[in-house]
Amino acid sequence: MTTRRITRAIKVGSSVVGGNAPILIQTMSAVKTRDVDAVVSSITQLAKAGAGLVRVAVDSQEDAAALAEIRKRVDANLSVDLQENFKLAEKVAPYVDKIRYNPGKLFRLEPEKPWQKKVEYLVKVALDNDCALRVGVNCGSLDPAIVARFQEDADAPNPADPLIASALEHVDFLETIGFQRYCVSIKDSDPKTVVLANKRFAELRPDVPLHLGVTEAGLPPRGILKTRVALEPLLAEGIGETLRVSLTVPADQKTEEIEAGRLILANVASGEIATPSLLDDDALNIVSCPSCSRVENSRFVELVKKVEEATAYARGYPFTIAVMGCRVNGPGETDGADIGLWCGGERVNLKSGATLIGSFGYDEIIDKTLELLNAKIKIYNASQIDLNRMGPDGLLA
Ligand code: SF4
Repeated sequence: MTTRRITRAIKVGSSVVGGNAPILIQTMSAVKTRDVDAVVSSITQLAKAGAGLVRVAVDSQEDAAALAEIRKRVDANLSVDLQENFKLAEKVAPYVDKIRYNPGKLFRLEPEKPWQKKVEYLVKVALDNDCALRVGVNCGSLDPAIVARFQEDADAPNPADPLIASALEHVDFLETIGFQRYCVSIKDSDPKTVVLANKRFAELRPDVPLHLGVTEAGLPPRGILKTRVALEPLLAEGIGETLRVSLTVPADQKTEEIEAGRLILANVASGEIATPSLLDDDALNIVSCPSCSRVENSRFVELVKKVEEATAYARGYPFTIAVMGCRVNGPGETDGADIGLWCGGERVNLKSGATLIGSFGYDEIIDKTLELLNAKIKIYNASQIDLNRMGPDGLLA
């Protein structure tokens, strides 16, 4: 293994991320945050399995109140995940060691207020409560202002470029206001983009600790393979101070994420680095979120498995099907897929690209998905036939 780079070190509870500290494996609890007993049991299980940090999602005052109870009953280092509800930070910060904010979600609440003011608020809360921050950039929820900026660019940008731009914008601002106790994550569901974005960011800001991960890696074993293909080359170059393997598994099996993280570190230590050739770019790509406390129906993981099984016949087609567990990230994070499914409590929303086709019961969604997939296959086959018939002069033979 290449010598690790030395970034600045940030304290996160009883752990350190960066500096000379060992790479910290983290994960996220996937049970409802307001169900205190279940979350305590989940966090205890994950910490026992080796998680150096466990993240919990908070979306409401009720969740925030539950976190106060949870903190009394667990010793583990805790991180809180705030998406658009950044204003809950002051309610939860006394009970956690780190706050993850998403630069792409800050615009939603109080849209008239500049994001810089919101980050200043988060920094003040972090300082007042001895917390670290994570700037968590995600491909499925990029800041619309960044998206618009790159759309204006006549040349199609590399998909990593807007992700890096968003991260740098926030890093520059944090440095300007004198806050350094933070790390950055730049996640995409495509392992190649994860490698590109993190390498580039590490070149530009070698001092900033990086949290590595592939978002929506999906079901194991493929989700583990995708994560290996992204993380192992980075770690082998000494990049990455903490990591999470995001797998679509039931809440009580989240320890698999820790085991996969250990496997990745062991592979890197022994020089067994996964290469992109292990993944077939032309094949049907199913991406699915790891689920978290926001998941709206406990049938979500089962649904992802059914989608994978039912679409196996279309394995040779270059489509992406995205399956997401909730309304918080589901609508945005399915936009880039050929077919998107995002779960509500009783119904699943089906999309073709960014267009909503309709919402269907859990028992009918598979048939509806296959109808849509078959229609896309028909169009794809027709276009391939035309291409095959096209002569060197560009005319159909
Ligand atoms: S999309 Fe999945 S992982 Fe993301 S917030 Fe929703 S349930 Fe949680």
